[in-house]
Amino acid sequence: PNAWLLYCRAGFEFDLAAEVTERAAAAGELGHVALAEPNSGFVCWQTESGPANSVHRQLPLASLVFARQSLVAFLPLTLDREDRISPISRLVEESGWSFEAVWHETPDTNDGKALGRLAKSLSRPLESALKRGGGLRRKAGGRRLHLFWLAGDRVQVGISFPGNRSEHPGGVLRLRHPADAPSRSTLKLEEAWHTFIPKQSWETRLSSGMQAVDLGAAPGGWTYQLVRKGLFVYAIDNGPMDKALMATGQVEHLREDGFVWEPPYRLDWLVCDIVDKPMRVIDMVERWLMRRWCREAIFNLKLPMKKRWDEVRRCLTRLEETLHAHGVSATIACRHLYHDREEVTVHVRIDG
Ligand code: SAM
Repeated sequence: PNAWLLYCRAGFEFDLAAEVTERAAAAGELGHVALAEPNSGFVCWQTESGPANSVHRQLPLASLVFARQSLVAFLPLTLDREDRISPISRLVEESGWSFEAVWHETPDTNDGKALGRLAKSLSRPLESALKRGGGLRRKAGGRRLHLFWLAGDRVQVGISFPGNRSEHPGGVLRLRHPADAPSRSTLKLEEAWHTFIPKQSWETRLSSGMQAVDLGAAPGGWTYQLVRKGLFVYAIDNGPMDKALMATGQVEHLREDGFVWEPPYRLDWLVCDIVDKPMRVIDMVERWLMRRWCREAIFNLKLPMKKRWDEVRRCLTRLEETLHAHGVSATIACRHLYHDREEVTVHVRIDG
């Protein structure tokens, strides 16, 4: 399989293509973007020769900003509508790989949704065929077979490996909107925690008695998440905060400028959802981290511009260089989350 298949939000194909082109080149991987159609919801990168396992491993999903899923894949198959099953099972058999599960997926677009029914109808007969050929079995190193349906007669067959993939269908973590949350944005912070903080450390890193600041907090969707975890929150915003949230007694609302406000003492968390120039947000976060006013931060960078990858790279490089120059050792990650739109989410944690 000499393709590397990456899913993304529809409309972000060029950003993902720019990102993988630059990162693969820097990693010394030879290949090129073979497919990145506007609004298709995926990007396919093809190696010059040989399998795509190397680029897939060298650039893990967690290190990519605009990708939701990362698969080692075969080039798309065109199928005969009379018999879609045999060519797929033959391809799997010839590959010599076996799998523990088969997932049918479609691009996150309207056309993609319509293909879901077809995929469902093929799932049982295909699984039977794969079992007969030995391609589907109980133990197969946790490998999963992904059938990414591009059209009724076109499918791209991909492989995912445990430890370097999204465990969610389509690479999308669906979360239920809590009925009493003051805004829909609340899910952005919740998804960020799921994405950046391993479940087993939630109790120590997001626990009651900790202190946080929420810059640009109104009406309080992010503050709501922090309060729910038992944190005390300084909510900085000129706008009004949700009344029920204020009634918890865990929130102090200050009508101040989030870019200049300084905490009265060191806090555990900074979160920021202010809509402003990305570099302005970076400047502010740098100041917080250099002075160690917080240990961990989650913030959004809004990306209304055309070259979104360029802007993200510029911001992350600056942040990394500044922290390094000031002797702050920190771990930085940045992802385009499902609940993000024209923005990405950054997580920074001071090491140690
Ligand atoms: N995260 C919030 C939630 O979940 O409810 C939504 C935040 S909204 C996208 C951005 C907020 O930033 C607005 O309420 C706006 O008033 C605030 N804001 C903009 N500039 C600000 C500044 N310089 N200081 C503090 N807040 C600011």
